Amino acid sequence: MDVDSIECVSSSDGIDDEVSAHLLHHPFSKPHHHALASCGGGGGAAPASATSVHELLECPVCTNSMYPPIHQCHNGHTLCSTCKSRVHNRCPTCRQELGDIRCLALEKVAESLELPCKYCPLGCPEIFPYYSKLKHEAQCNFRPYNCPYAGSECSFVGDIPYLVTHLRDDHKVDMHSGCTFNHRYVKSNPREVENATWMLTVFNCFGQYFCLHFEAFQLGMAPVYMAFLRFMGDENDARNYTYSLEVGGSGRKLIWEGTPRSIRDSHRKVRDSHDGLIIQRNMALFFSGGERKELKLRVTGRIWKEQQNPESGVCIPNLCS
Ligand SMILES: [Zn+2]
Ligand SMILES: [Zn+2]
Ligand SMILES: [Zn+2]
Ligand SMILES: [Zn+2]
Repeated sequence: MDVDSIECVSSSDGIDDEVSAHLLHHPFSKPHHHALASCGGGGGAAPASATSVHELLECPVCTNSMYPPIHQCHNGHTLCSTCKSRVHNRCPTCRQELGDIRCLALEKVAESLELPCKYCPLGCPEIFPYYSKLKHEAQCNFRPYNCPYAGSECSFVGDIPYLVTHLRDDHKVDMHSGCTFNHRYVKSNPREVENATWMLTVFNCFGQYFCLHFEAFQLGMAPVYMAFLRFMGDENDARNYTYSLEVGGSGRKLIWEGTPRSIRDSHRKVRDSHDGLIIQRNMALFFSGGERKELKLRVTGRIWKEQQNPESGVCIPNLCS
């Protein structure tokens, strides 16, 4: 993290300390590539013979399910199109030249099947015909989350408890319990905004996790600081919460109140939609007091649970007009 010059002092009221209990649960420590057949279950859609059909449709090279186009060699060995593009025209099974033969029979079988969502092992009960399954999986609520660590090319995916552990252990992110917070961001040379200085803190309250981002960046020509909260969970659940951020000094203050965005929305997307507390650098230095040489921002905040109102919060800024 690019924050060696920012120091963060935090205090928060401890409300619950269930973190460690959640952290013991690691359903994503192993990839689940073989789960389709064992995860049928729903409404009798998978007949008894389905397991062997699923086995036929498992790519012998990568073990993922094969989707049309399905390829085969002259000897009839099948493989998926992803693997075909990787094997340099050699059948991985018999080493013969692969050519360009489609396995239409298997493609027809594949299209006729109804399959459980591939996130079935994570709890999704849905069953779909082949093509709508792909569409669903891109949007499935049970799909794993990407690591919310901003600005990194981190490729970690997993469920929330797993990501919390990952943020703490691998990114050394600060963890706090409680629904109120009081952070001080200190930077000795606030002119260096161009380096995209930022930091992330994770809060545990209401048995959920929230990420607080604080970042310096250029907004057009203007150097600004921005703070916002993301909910570690999906968008529907995020709407149950509201948060406020407050920053000030010298008799002035700015207050932001909003709904946390889901970590399904990337850090960059939230930032670019300006969905958070934005402080112009001049104002930030004014809040810092002193001789405007040093940034000393005290950001206080609170997270609370909103009364459920199905009419509200459906529209996300910059995503609909
Ligand atoms: Zn394959
Ligand atoms: Zn072959
Ligand atoms: Zn699903
Ligand atoms: Zn990560």
